[in-house]
Amino acid sequence: MRIDIITIFPEMFQGPFTESIVKRAVNKGIVEINLHSLRDYSTDKHKRVDDYAFSAGAGMVMMIEPVDNCISQLKSEREYDEVIYMSPDGELLTQPLANQLSLYKNIIILCGHYKGIDERIREHLITKEISIGNYVLSGGELGAAVLTDSIVRLIPGALSDETSALSDSFQDGLVSPPVYTRPRDYKGWTVPEVLLSGNDMIINEWKLSQALQRTKERRPEMYEILKKK
Ligand code: SAH
Repeated sequence: MRIDIITIFPEMFQGPFTESIVKRAVNKGIVEINLHSLRDYSTDKHKRVDDYAFSAGAGMVMMIEPVDNCISQLKSEREYDEVIYMSPDGELLTQPLANQLSLYKNIIILCGHYKGIDERIREHLITKEISIGNYVLSGGELGAAVLTDSIVRLIPGALSDETSALSDSFQDGLVSPPVYTRPRDYKGWTVPEVLLSGNDMIINEWKLSQALQRTKERRPEMYEILKKK
């Protein structure tokens, strides 16, 4: 898979993409992530990418031309499955959406800043808008990093144990059961007996019942959907 990220702050991705699972997936060649500095696509001599909004006191808005130049350049090189804009009013990022995006070959992610981007970019160049939650961030970069991480870990080969993405929360409409490691007893805080039984069938039943109970308590809306199935 190839992910092209358009941003005015490429350095913000240092860290999220240079550690852990995303780094490993890049090194293994499972995913190629390209950061494009939007200023490189500005024809302005000061490399401007923003301008005043057409309404007094409304703040700065990202201009169409640099964004169009960058997206057009990328599109001339290959076909894209989606051109995504990170936006607080976009479709909320959920596990099913991450699953769907992880099947794609090429995607572009545009990070906004200031008051946002000129609406005509959204109308003519963007095919999908994604929000990471109902709150406002200063820019799209953190959202793009979250989105990329949620996608990359689903690509086969990214996780060392391929089945483990499938047993994560939300994959089957359930949150995860609790997990434990050694020691069995820490200051009298003990691991549930059933996990030490060595009986896989009983352990799996316990995990399912814990997952169901947690879903009912913590995500009642998800539990209602499960009940209907
Ligand atoms: N004025 C806009 C907010 C702009 S915030 C509004 O009220 O809707 C600046 C940029 O941060 C946006 O262009 C977007 O790319 C990004 N951003 C902010 N909150 C986000 C969220 N919850 N999810 C994804 N991107 C977000």
